Amino acid sequence: MSTTQDRSNVGQLSSADTAELFKQYVVPNYGRYPVSLVRGEGSRVWDAEGKEYLDFFPGWGCNLLGHCPDTIVAAVQEQIATLIHVPNSWLIEAQGQWAKLLSERSFGGQAFFCNSGTEANEAAIKLARLHTPPQRYKIITFQGGFHGRTFGATSATAQPKYHEGIGPLLAGFSYAPFGDLEAVAQLIDDQTAAIMVEPIQGEGGVRIPPEGFLAGLRKLADEHELLLIFDEVQTGCGRTGHWFGYQHFDVTPDILTLAKSLCGGVAGGALLTTKEIAPSLRPGMHAATFGGNPIAARAGIAAIEMIERDNLLENVAVLSEIFRERMTALQAECDLIQEVRVIGMMIGVELAIEGAPAVKACLEKGLLINCTQGNVIRLLPAMNLTPEEVHQGCDILVDVIKNMAPAS
Ligand SMILES: *Cc1c(COP(=O)(O)O)cnc(C)c1O
Repeated sequence: MSTTQDRSNVGQLSSADTAELFKQYVVPNYGRYPVSLVRGEGSRVWDAEGKEYLDFFPGWGCNLLGHCPDTIVAAVQEQIATLIHVPNSWLIEAQGQWAKLLSERSFGGQAFFCNSGTEANEAAIKLARLHTPPQRYKIITFQGGFHGRTFGATSATAQPKYHEGIGPLLAGFSYAPFGDLEAVAQLIDDQTAAIMVEPIQGEGGVRIPPEGFLAGLRKLADEHELLLIFDEVQTGCGRTGHWFGYQHFDVTPDILTLAKSLCGGVAGGALLTTKEIAPSLRPGMHAATFGGNPIAARAGIAAIEMIERDNLLENVAVLSEIFRERMTALQAECDLIQEVRVIGMMIGVELAIEGAPAVKACLEKGLLINCTQGNVIRLLPAMNLTPEEVHQGCDILVDVIKNMAPAS
């Protein structure tokens, strides 16, 4: 086949044809459903066969504004025809504007831009080591946490299943149980540089910290002159109904990392830090070739503008309450459910049994959801769902869970 033919074929293959391409040519490092998604609009997505799905897990948390949000599409279309990429050896107006918007909505600091969550966390790890005295290199993280797949971030991720066979890991990480301040205090020594934590664990199963935990970490960090790093790759950018998850708990980090929904579905990542700490990431010490490129920057600005234009933070509170009501009502009549955890557009339903069959059954009924940690149904829906869509999806989910076989 010629290249031209290959290109004209995009958008014409069945799911089975695409599956064949993957079997032959794509590294099999993901578990994939045998469905090729080809088009999306809001919280609806369509496969190559024309089947419509309601998407309660759009873009694995990246599409917080739904599929193809109008402001993102317009900004990217305009930018891509004007200037696609220029390196960070030049000033980039949109990057500066974007950094200002993020600073004004967080703690008034400065931004470093990259392309993904793991990259933002790598920058945070380097910055913590650079900013603290030379003997300090250790970082305390939390069991069940998730920080990404590059080596620093994987080493920070305290889940043994992600470490098997790839060692040695980056030195200096030690792990505490999520929520256990006493254990953190025990791990701190004069080589500790930082504490790194997701304010709400996402991949770990939508785990909300116990009362006072984050404030306790802030206190420990201050007492021992450590940096407090919040990984808000999943909880940031409006997900929880505040701009950033930390704003729920009234505890401000020294370093904040963002990605996933940061650019309304376009790839982008960022690290925010204070003006005092920022200069430690001095010229020559760190970089990302595509970081803060004009397209990502315009998309990032458009995402903020859309959230404000459409009052989406307020909408999250409304939608979240519906999810909470529906799931707690289900819990009351179904003993397969061990716990329901809801914060903004993060919904975790912990089952007494494996969750994978529920994901499959929902897929067949036209609802896309996720299961994490084996038994936690996780929803990361878009903040611009309609209440009707919430109910429609919950009807399917409730029906599926009620019909699951009881734990044996
Ligand atoms: C997804 C995620 C990451 C990794 O982000 P990538 O963009 O896949 O590198 C890091 N931290 C948290 C909390 C995440 O949810």
